Amino acid sequence: MEKYCKTIKYDVRLSDFTTFGIGGLAKAVAFPKSEEEFISLYTYLKDVGERFSVIGLGSNLLISDGGYDGVVITTRCMKDLIKEPEGVTASCGISLPHLSRTALFHSLSGAEFMIGIPSSVGGAIRMNAGAFDSCVKDCLISAKVFNGERVEEFGVGELGLSYRNSLIPSLGTVLSAKFRFLPANIRDIESKIEKFRKIRQETQPNLKSAGCAFKGVGGVSAGYYIDKAGLKGMRIGGAEVSEKHAGFIVNRGGATARDVAKLMLVVQEKVLEKFGVLLESEICFLGEYDEDIRRLSHAYDIQSR
Ligand SMILES: Cc1cc2nc3c(=O)[nH]c(=O)nc-3n(C[C@H](O)[C@H](O)[C@H](O)COP(=O)(O)OP(=O)(O)OC[C@H]3O[C@@H](n4cnc5c(N)ncnc54)[C@H](O)[C@@H]3O)c2cc1C
Repeated sequence: MEKYCKTIKYDVRLSDFTTFGIGGLAKAVAFPKSEEEFISLYTYLKDVGERFSVIGLGSNLLISDGGYDGVVITTRCMKDLIKEPEGVTASCGISLPHLSRTALFHSLSGAEFMIGIPSSVGGAIRMNAGAFDSCVKDCLISAKVFNGERVEEFGVGELGLSYRNSLIPSLGTVLSAKFRFLPANIRDIESKIEKFRKIRQETQPNLKSAGCAFKGVGGVSAGYYIDKAGLKGMRIGGAEVSEKHAGFIVNRGGATARDVAKLMLVVQEKVLEKFGVLLESEICFLGEYDEDIRRLSHAYDIQSR
């Protein structure tokens, strides 16, 4: 494999690659540094029939306790960033906070909302990540996507970006993306970033998590229903519905993927019972799960073959 990607680690604990701090062993984790390396590794794995999955920064992932019987390709080392006349072109592994700070550095506005989202560019496009009434769709121009055979550039309108969803799983892997950011007063950009940072600090838990576990419904956050159902603080094993933000499930220490998934099922059931609202998982699942847990993740299959 090293012939195709220089940095490969074997028998790796995937908990080190998720913000939940959860996940069993993978056969190997690969760290391509360039598009060329990514494509040649992907093509090799496909040709030899090895199972593999692509992840970004693991901030929206629940990886099973049994791990993943295959190769995980993380894009975290694909980190080119180019300032363009009308914005920025970023590789898929660039983090959104980095993109936000780069835009600030160039006095460009439009990336302020990205500051507290621990996402990669690729993951953010796949999820159409957003916060504070802005989302990726608002500033994305186009994305370069590899579909396993060729590389294609898609305009933002062709990517099917909607609330925490996109057509990316059926299109392929995002290699890089062009963003449009507009010149603005640097002090204004800075104060917006500071405001967003402060709101997050005040409202979100400082514990391991994958952000909001469920999607909002009809403009109402899942956290609202979970809170009103009296579920804050509910715990299974090391997993807990955050006391600070009911939308977050946090790892209080030693949580397993099973703890988190079971808690999600209970939350889903209670909210359905009380409000007749079926919450849908926002978290993507990787690895093997029991049938009941798989129901949580039906629409969120990971980039894999
Ligand atoms: C503390 C915290 C706060 C958060 N706040 C927010 C928030 O405000 N708004 C929000 O929207 N989300 C938020 N999230 C969730 C998370 O950051 C986003 O869903 C993010 O977009 C996931 O990106 P990632 O790179 O971590 O992807 P991963 O978790 O690694 O993967 C998620 C999915 O994206 C796919 N993927 C990753 N990279 C690529 C690629 N290059 N091409 C194709 N598919 C790819 C994976 O296959 C998988 O299906 C938060 C998470 C945490 C932990």
